[in-house]
Amino acid sequence: MTEPPDRPPFLPFALPEIGEEEIAEVVDTLRSGWVTTGPKARRFETDFAAFLGDPGLHCVAVNSATAGLHLALEAVGIGPGDEVLTTTHTFTATAEVARYLGADVKLVDCDSATLNIDPAAVEAAIGPRTKALVPVHYAGLAADMPRLLQIARRHRLKVVEDAAHALPTTCGGRLVGTLDSEATVFSFYANKTITTGEGGMLVTRDAQIAARARVMRLHGISRDAFDRFSAQVPSWYYEIVAPGFKYNLTDIAAALGLHQLRRAHEFQRKRQRLAEAYHAALAGLPLHLPATAPQGEVHAWHLYVVRLADDARVARDRVIERLYAAGIGCSVHYIPLHLQPYWRDRYGLQARQFPRSQRAFERMISLPLYTRMQESDVLRVAEALRGAL
Ligand SMILES: *Cc1c(COP(=O)(O)O)cnc(C)c1O
Repeated sequence: MTEPPDRPPFLPFALPEIGEEEIAEVVDTLRSGWVTTGPKARRFETDFAAFLGDPGLHCVAVNSATAGLHLALEAVGIGPGDEVLTTTHTFTATAEVARYLGADVKLVDCDSATLNIDPAAVEAAIGPRTKALVPVHYAGLAADMPRLLQIARRHRLKVVEDAAHALPTTCGGRLVGTLDSEATVFSFYANKTITTGEGGMLVTRDAQIAARARVMRLHGISRDAFDRFSAQVPSWYYEIVAPGFKYNLTDIAAALGLHQLRRAHEFQRKRQRLAEAYHAALAGLPLHLPATAPQGEVHAWHLYVVRLADDARVARDRVIERLYAAGIGCSVHYIPLHLQPYWRDRYGLQARQFPRSQRAFERMISLPLYTRMQESDVLRVAEALRGAL
């Protein structure tokens, strides 16, 4: 049987945009004979620091944001008995890394307008064991960093930003990555705003955090011996100073990153235009549209998340089914951590402790938003949503 001729092709929820320059750079890497961490990973770090535009920054390339978050918490000294605060409204990677280190996680509710971590809930959750705070810039909109940093300073908490959605995002006119936290971690996973397939970048102003992350990124191998005695130490010599990890980024992945990074602002402008097209096309439907950035700030628009309004007459799950039936991929960001069996059972969590995240979760749908979409795709999604509602 053939498809009816008027049936439009499936519109996926997300797709990467990989150009000929990325492909040529990967081929060049493959031909060079140096495929693992080497000159291109190093150049990606230098370019990333230049992109952020702050000469005081150290950038450490890693094979995922999860790895970067783990290294950052390790480097700021998180360990058994400590407690790390983060939002329930995130992906599990944000929180799981604290557990790798034997620390506990305390989840807090989000703000109902932005879905970013609620500073008042953070302040109320701080206890004697609380050592670190991990805010997430949800969907690409900056968390309330001025207030969060103020609370953290007052209580001597380390701050590690989960910036997996936030390239490029600004807060107070400064790019996320250049704020006054201990470290910021970006993701280059396949569906993020730039991609290396898998990859991440740990960014810090603190030379000691950067040095520790570099050592722990590769088996705990210290290069200090080379630097101090480079003339005397033979090239085969190295020292293991800790039981480190295997978190280095390959040159094959970095080759993609070099060109994706150059397009990051162009990609953001495209996402911004598509988001604006959604705002216009969805106006008047029984939906809460996502929060936009304050005047003069940049929203990375990693996600476009709508929520069903009270007067919507259809359940969220049914709307998603109808969108799929219309050939449109969509998703939910996120099933909050307090509903996930591991987190719920380990900490005895209940939905009523997180009313804003819970309510948002029950009504939310993430619509397709990526640079390879056209405005006509946005109109098609809006039309399907109008029909589904
Ligand atoms: C994607 C994502 C991560 C993990 O990124 P990886 O690079 O896949 O490890 C962490 N936190 C959030 C909020 C994410 O969306």
